[in-house]
Amino acid sequence: MTLELIQQALASGQMTSVQVVSACFEVIEAKDTDINAFVRVYKDEALVAAAASDARRAEGSVLGPLDGVPVAIKDNISYQDHGTSAGSAMLKEYVAPYDATVVAKLKAGGAIIIGHVNMDEFAMGSTGESSAFGATKNPHDLSRVPGGSSSGAAAAVAARMVPVSYGSDTGGSIRQPAAFCGVVGLKPTYGAVSRYGLLAMASSLDQIGPIGATVADVEVAYEAIKGFDRADSTSSVPETLPAKTSYRIGVPKQFYSDGLDVRIRDTLDATLSKLEDEGHTIVRDLDIPLLDQSVAIYYLIVPAEVSSNLARYDGIRYGVHGEGVADSRTQGFGDEVKRRIMLGTFVLSAGYSDAYYKRAQTARAALTEQLSGVFQEVDVLLSPVTPELPFKLGEKTNDPLAMYLSDIYTLPVNLAGLPALSVPAAWVQEGNALLPIGLQIIGPQWSEPWLCDLGKKIEVPHA
Ligand code: GLN
Repeated sequence: MTLELIQQALASGQMTSVQVVSACFEVIEAKDTDINAFVRVYKDEALVAAAASDARRAEGSVLGPLDGVPVAIKDNISYQDHGTSAGSAMLKEYVAPYDATVVAKLKAGGAIIIGHVNMDEFAMGSTGESSAFGATKNPHDLSRVPGGSSSGAAAAVAARMVPVSYGSDTGGSIRQPAAFCGVVGLKPTYGAVSRYGLLAMASSLDQIGPIGATVADVEVAYEAIKGFDRADSTSSVPETLPAKTSYRIGVPKQFYSDGLDVRIRDTLDATLSKLEDEGHTIVRDLDIPLLDQSVAIYYLIVPAEVSSNLARYDGIRYGVHGEGVADSRTQGFGDEVKRRIMLGTFVLSAGYSDAYYKRAQTARAALTEQLSGVFQEVDVLLSPVTPELPFKLGEKTNDPLAMYLSDIYTLPVNLAGLPALSVPAAWVQEGNALLPIGLQIIGPQWSEPWLCDLGKKIEVPHA
């Protein structure tokens, strides 16, 4: 059931929260041995919380729109007294001593947290394969990846194990797995959702956001977590943009690149024609030259922030305790994390930081400026989410560069602090599987309502 249907069933008394939560666990028990979306489930306490929600509802004191609704959270979101391990062996034994602000808000609204979902280690990756808890599989075809790093968050919603999950997005980690699993994912404006209690990857880009089966579900799930938070120094006070009935939609020419799968290109073109027929203005061939540099900029800035943020995992306070710091890190971290720490340490080192890190920061500022200039001309951009359909497990495991290049359409959004929504816009037959094609709507800061409005016009949920 979608979140919307669950809310109706709870409100009308057709179902209790205990029934809804039990149904989720039935699906998880039936399917998750194959899919591996969850790293930890909290069945007993979820059922207790659901019973408490049902009692509140019977008394007429519902806490909010998510009261009694089951949700899952990514394994890098701190949940007090629960394991929170960011998909890493380093934190396999770690128990969070406090709640992330997002979790505190969910609890206060009566949502039922049913488990932590799988992810690429420390959110680095686009396949879900780098988790210390094993790879997650794509529910539409078990031989394919679900995308990453919020692999379990997207797969759990696509497999109908839970109506809504919360992931994090540093360079595409909500939008790309949503696209690969045929569900909807929102990466909010930087600062819209508190990062307090999110295990940091790259602090100047990380944002928590929702994944759901429909745009309407994602809207409700987003409302429940957004808002200014004093505990996060980069949190912002939300702004409200004027509502619109028709949009000027731009398509950057840099996004029609050679590597784009023709089925994704066709879906983009067909969607543009449809929107044009419905009275929106399409601006084709927008020139945003620095988009071509996004991968280079991102893969200098992110490793730099990663090397600094992950320095705390030294085996002293928490994590794997080896013979010494080096040994703890050798044992505790996987290959992709080590690769980024080494790259980041290099680009920040004396003699190189001007040539790499500082140049990347300058280019990031210029890209941000180019994008804000574009939003003087158009309201939103429409683009692919990924250049390819979901690929096979193992296909890019030993080719990090190919994996980095596949982030081309999602990274610019994080570099510029913008919001973007990924929606399934078509389904194509590939062998025995029906695979989704996602499209991305990108807007200026605080344009989430525009993105959701347009998203509803183009979404094609799985039957
Ligand atoms: N795939 C990108 C990376 O590996 C994005 C990850 C993310 O958004 N957390 O960095």
